[in-house]
Order: sequence, then structure tokens, then C-alpha cells
Amino acid sequence: MTYPLAPAGHRFGNPICGLAPYAAHEEYSRGRRFPEEPPNYRSEYQRDRDRIVHCGAFRRLEYKTQVFVNHEGDMFRTRLTHSLEVAQIGRSIARVLGLNEDLVEAVALAHDLGHTPFGHAGQEALNACMRQFGGFEHNFQSLRVVDELERRYAEFTGLNLTFETREGILKHCSLERARGLGELGDRFIKKRQPSLEAQLTNIADEIAYNNHDVDDGLRAGLITIEQLNEVALFREQLQDVRTRYPRLTDRRMIHEVVRRMINRQVSDLIETTKSSIVAAAPASCDEVRQFENRLVKFSDEMNTLHRELKQFLRKNLYTHYRVKRMTAKAAQVVTRLFEAFMTDPGLLPTDTARELRRLEHDHQEKGRALAIADYIAGMTDRYAIAEYERLFSPAHLT
Ligand code: MG
Repeated sequence: MTYPLAPAGHRFGNPICGLAPYAAHEEYSRGRRFPEEPPNYRSEYQRDRDRIVHCGAFRRLEYKTQVFVNHEGDMFRTRLTHSLEVAQIGRSIARVLGLNEDLVEAVALAHDLGHTPFGHAGQEALNACMRQFGGFEHNFQSLRVVDELERRYAEFTGLNLTFETREGILKHCSLERARGLGELGDRFIKKRQPSLEAQLTNIADEIAYNNHDVDDGLRAGLITIEQLNEVALFREQLQDVRTRYPRLTDRRMIHEVVRRMINRQVSDLIETTKSSIVAAAPASCDEVRQFENRLVKFSDEMNTLHRELKQFLRKNLYTHYRVKRMTAKAAQVVTRLFEAFMTDPGLLPTDTARELRRLEHDHQEKGRALAIADYIAGMTDRYAIAEYERLFSPAHLT
């Protein structure tokens, strides 16, 4: 299937020219699964964004975490504030590159909808529980939320988002799952790329979490400024800030350093991507999809710096004993809930039990596991803890 080329005529950084030819233009969208009339006062991607903001899974992001469990403090990032930061970083870059800001925002706000409670610990535990039933992938689950699990509209199941938003949500996918996804799974089989908007949101996600984890890690006292001095990206900004503002308090200094780190990465991404777009000269979004390599990328130098920061966080923050104590408990909550429901689905609330019977009818034991995984993945941190207590705490017998 071929798609018409978008009009030419964009220059970088000139908003009057609007979208670049290689951006996702809604006129050339691959459409929605269930055809709908175009919106009257919004773009198609604005409509996607609005449907995401109004869905239940989006509201639950407020009580889901990545590194720190929700009740640890009100100042830490949640999946909701993380998603807003991804949208902010993504939109800023999209505007400079002439990409579709509305699409970037829609993908950014939806990209984590499928995350389990308790961040990566919850995801790994649920994946282990689901191993014999095809595993659990949070990224695929985000797509499942917008395609299947949100039931709000009279005429269709899911949010009926455009192909481009769904393409952006699905960052990774196993080949087995890709084969069942039709056009959406093609790129994983053919090893091709998604739209530039999807590529951009993917990196905006990384920029957001690597930098806010530095900020949150310092706030929690799990890492120190002295330790971070090992990391070149942090060190170069810290030296600059200390020279310019020698009397700044620690908290303000940390914020000043982190914002400069983000700025440095965003600037590098913009300049490197501009050059790669000029060199590859894609005439349309569809041409971008035929490339083997990504055009939205950091320079080699920034890749090295970025990798060093990620390694630092893995070594000093994500595997800090206090974080590991939380994640070990979180994994236990998820695993025990899963096992209890698998053994006795009669423990499930009415709606979930109904869904389980439907999936079990079609897929037997795998259907049962899927319904339970959907239920657990949809929980917030605090709901999962409350559910665990309701099921296992003797105090709830009285
Ligand atoms: Mg994310």
C-alpha cells in the first residue's frame, strides 16, 4: 500500500511554515480501526490526545511510580508527572524540527498507560508470572489499554486512536506479538522505523527519566552530589553553576544543574537530528518508515555521556539496597496476588470475574491468566497494597 507525499516547503525553526514534509500530516494518516467522521474543531491527533487524557488508565498514572513507591513522599515523580515531562520535552523539540506536536503529545501521554504498579519491579514480577502464557510486556500492554481495555465509547471498544498514535505507543514488541498485529506489527518484522514523532517521543522519554531520577535520587538521599561528580554530564554543569553562583543553596543548585543537563541533551538531539534529516532528505513520513536507521538521535559524544549517566543510575540508584527492599516487597505483592487469583478466580471482583470468564471461554487457562494480568497491571501502587492486605492480612478478617 502506498501513501501520497506530503507537500514540501518547510524550513527548520520557522513556525509559520508549519509541518515539515517528513512530519506526520493528518491528511495522510493511516486512519482509525473503526472509521469516524473527522473532528470539527480539532486535529485528529488532538482528538487522540483528548481521549487519552479523559480515560481511566490516565488518571491512575498519578498513583503509579517508576523508582519510588507512591507513599514515600509527595515530591517524587509519578508516572503522571513523568508523562507530562515527556510531553513537554517532546513538544519543544517537535516544534523546532517541524514535526507534529499534537501527535508527540498524544504518544507521550499514553506511552506508560500499560505499566504495572511498582514500576520495573512490578513489570518483571508480572512477566515472570505470565511466562508460560506468552509473558507480559508493559509496552504492548499500553497498546492493549487503548485498543481493548478502555471501554467508554458507545460505538467501539478502546479509544479508537489513529494508527500513528498507536504506532508511537508500541516502542518495542516481540516478533511473535508483532505477527498478530497486522500493519502495526510490520515494522518489527521488516526491521523498519516508525514516524519521526514516535522516534522523538522515545528519546524524550529517556531524557525525562534519566534526569528526573537524578533529581529524585538526590532528594531521597540515595545518591550524593559527590558521587554524581563521576558523571561527566553532571560534572560539567555543576562546575559551571558553582562558578557562576557560588552561594546557591543545594536544592536550587541541583535544579539548576539538572535543567542544564536536560537543555544540553535536548540541544544535542535537535542539532544531530537536523543534520541526519538533511542528509537523508525524507520526502514524507512514509519514506521515514522505510529507513533502516533512526533519524532522531544524539551525537556519538552525547550517546557516550548518556550511557555513562544510565550506568551510574543503574549501579547507584536502581540497585541501592533501600530501593531493592522496596522492589522485593513489590514483586512479592504482584506475585502473590497473581497466584491467589489463578488458584481461585472466585476472589476477583465481579467485573473482572466476568471478563475472566469471557477470555477463559476463548483461550482457556491462558485467558484466565490474561484477565488477571490485565487486572493487576491496571492497579495503582496503593490499590495493589490494599488488595494484598484485603486478601492476606488476618486483620481484615474482623
Ligand atoms: Mg516512560
